[in-house]
Amino acid sequence: MIVVLSKNISARDKELVRVYLRDRGFAVRDQRFGDDQMIGAAGKGLVDLRELGLLPGVERVAATSKPYELASRETRAEDSIVSVGETGNVKIGGARITVIAGPCAVESREQIRETAERVRESGAVLLRGGAYKPRTSPYAFQGLGMKGLEYMKEAAEACAMPIVTEVVSPELALDMKDLTDMFQIGARNMQNFELLKKVGALGKPVLLKRGPSATVEEWLLSAEYLLAAGTKDVVLCERGIRTFETYTRNTLDISAIPVVKSLSHLPVIVDPSHAVGIRAKVSSAALAAIAAGADGLTVEVHPRPDDALSDGPQSLYPEQFEKLMRDIEALAPVVGKELLRTPQPNPSAAAFRKSGADSPGGGAALSAKPVAYNGESGAFAEQALVRVFGEETPRTQVQSFRGIFDAVLEGSARAGIVPVENSLAGSVHENYDLFLRYPDIAIVGEVKLRIVHCLIAGKRADMDSISTVRSHPQGFAQCRDFLDKHPSWVLEACNNTAAAVGSIAREGAANVAAIAGAAAAKVHGLKILKEGIETNPLNYTRFLVISRKFSDGASGPPGAAGDTTFAGTAGDAEAWASSGSEKPDKASLVFSVPDKPGSLFACLKIMADNGLNLSKLESRPIEGKPWEYQFYVDVSIPEQGDFFTVMEELKTRTEDFRFLGAYRGSL
Ligand code: PEP
Ligand code: MN
Repeated sequence: MIVVLSKNISARDKELVRVYLRDRGFAVRDQRFGDDQMIGAAGKGLVDLRELGLLPGVERVAATSKPYELASRETRAEDSIVSVGETGNVKIGGARITVIAGPCAVESREQIRETAERVRESGAVLLRGGAYKPRTSPYAFQGLGMKGLEYMKEAAEACAMPIVTEVVSPELALDMKDLTDMFQIGARNMQNFELLKKVGALGKPVLLKRGPSATVEEWLLSAEYLLAAGTKDVVLCERGIRTFETYTRNTLDISAIPVVKSLSHLPVIVDPSHAVGIRAKVSSAALAAIAAGADGLTVEVHPRPDDALSDGPQSLYPEQFEKLMRDIEALAPVVGKELLRTPQPNPSAAAFRKSGADSPGGGAALSAKPVAYNGESGAFAEQALVRVFGEETPRTQVQSFRGIFDAVLEGSARAGIVPVENSLAGSVHENYDLFLRYPDIAIVGEVKLRIVHCLIAGKRADMDSISTVRSHPQGFAQCRDFLDKHPSWVLEACNNTAAAVGSIAREGAANVAAIAGAAAAKVHGLKILKEGIETNPLNYTRFLVISRKFSDGASGPPGAAGDTTFAGTAGDAEAWASSGSEKPDKASLVFSVPDKPGSLFACLKIMADNGLNLSKLESRPIEGKPWEYQFYVDVSIPEQGDFFTVMEELKTRTEDFRFLGAYRGSL
């Protein structure tokens, strides 16, 4: 039984709950997941659940129907997010895909260093490698032991990546503690209960592999051992189970991913390498795992797999791993996630932390400020915000797009997130126009979110009871085909999709539905009448991250800081290079051109001649100048050449040239 405590319970009330349970024959233990505090009560005690539930500071009593309690979704409905490493930068779970990579075993100082560098370059955020290897044959390479761990730590420090490594015996756990950031419990040891108790008690994050013959329930009970012993950070890893099939090393149990994700709140990752055991099949299995909802992967990579001392045949060449990472990046938005990249969750977030920390008006106070979005909880914009800044970032809701620009300009928000374009319905012109009205606001990041629309209504409603549908006009536009099948429905426009859902929750009418995302339905406890009603499933909205420009051009990347108009100095490029953020590879501009033949062509030619790829060109009427137009342009920033000089040249050929910002584009 788990007693979930309210977030602000006093130490005295907490002790009263403990005493109450102990007096009735239970063994009690404290547990925390994120902000949630709980008390686990084990044993055959007798208790009046109603009375227990009424004790001060008790939020609810979760008497789970499963033999595992701490690991159960019934105890905690939200996904747990596990933070790894000294800074806690590397997170597993939630809206991200986290990739762990490295060799099967640490073989030498050079081998682990080279592998770490290669996998980090491709985007892995955690380094794996065994120093103690549980091998089937006693004559096979058993690992370098403590020496191997030291080599690994050295490599990991050089590459700023935390480590995950296998612990094979309770005696070794304490010695290994300071040399690793996350313990791995290998498949063969999944039910080594003494090991689980010892490792769990050390409180470090643990990657728990599924035993080759373990059922899902046995696996979750092993996770329970770790949680009951004291750690709150457990990540489950499916790595293939033993079946009658012998072609592959094991059989990857893809179905275990959605099964475990519904039974447990713990993150689930997949090890495709040990699952299939054949290099050429690893990437397909990895992508299947991501499609099935895995929170990440652990992949064996070796610079020279043919010379590897263990598991060479299943280890990817670094080039294959790089290709796999690119494929994951493309797949991630389809499953509503983003690939976690080093060193920060997102370069735009990195840019902010930088501008927050260094800017004259900012300091630490700035990074503590919220990020603004338009809408209510569960809005798509909120999901985009979380994608860029992480779950813990404070957010503030405003009731219009203009409100986002105002909050960022006044400084009540350190950044804002604004939708600018949808792949089905086109540009959100209101926001493009706002960029022109707010010259002190710059674009510093971009994120693309897959938009799946649902028809959402109250518990009593069904498809036949609906006569009115509410949404943002963009929601209607993206679901045109579906709405055309219901011509009698009256459409009512709202400020945003989540607000439409909120109004239904408040009013409770059975004839009104909303078009919005599933997250908004969940926030308000409403019913989804139909999921996936957008006209085409390839429906993405592009959000831009905005920030205020600072008057001191010396700090932060261009766009986030610097001159209020486009300065176009080499200093901008240097600022980026020294900001610790990834170099921007995309820029947005607005300009108009003189009214004479070939003037737009001249601008396009400058871009073409300098290798700037145009990803958007759109014309918009200029306010107050009938039949005159300005152009919205998105261009790539090439690796080579001086982009800022090209911008200066472009400026001479245009009128009203406005540089909106340089940032890292998302796929
Ligand atoms: C490993 O990850 O190196 C390993 C030995 O995996 P498993 O325990 O899944 O066989
Ligand atoms: Mn291995």
